[in-house]
Amino acid sequence: MATDANCLFCKIVAGEVSAEVVHRDDRLVAFRDIAPKAPLHVLIAPRDHQPDAAASTATDPTIVGELVAAAAVIAEQEGYEAYNLLFNTGAEAGQTIFHTHLHLLAGGISALPV
Ligand code: AMP
Ligand code: ZN
Repeated sequence: MATDANCLFCKIVAGEVSAEVVHRDDRLVAFRDIAPKAPLHVLIAPRDHQPDAAASTATDPTIVGELVAAAAVIAEQEGYEAYNLLFNTGAEAGQTIFHTHLHLLAGGISALPV
């Protein structure tokens, strides 16, 4: 499994940087965004360090589906039946952390972009 010693989300995955974790398993970690853009804003990151969702898919074809499945469970647990899912991919599209993460947003937003 790839890891990057300089990556913030690798540190969160490893428990070296604290975050409000809402779900973790052997494949992924989900935690609340530090600057939420909606009442529910959770980031779901694979444990494996890859720079974006396409790279994750190339190395591990099922992982993106697992992120989406985790998002559905978390949304339900948090009491939302409607939500938005987003992968920012590339700096020009707003990506700032180059460790794959799925944004789960719900409540009070009706339109992207985020
Ligand atoms: P992106 O722009 O798609 O790369 O998203 C990065 C997200 O990470 C932003 O929404 C940030 O608010 C969030 N973020 C940055 N640092 C932390 C942190 N320490 N804990 C939780 N979320 C963070
Ligand atoms: Zn990483």
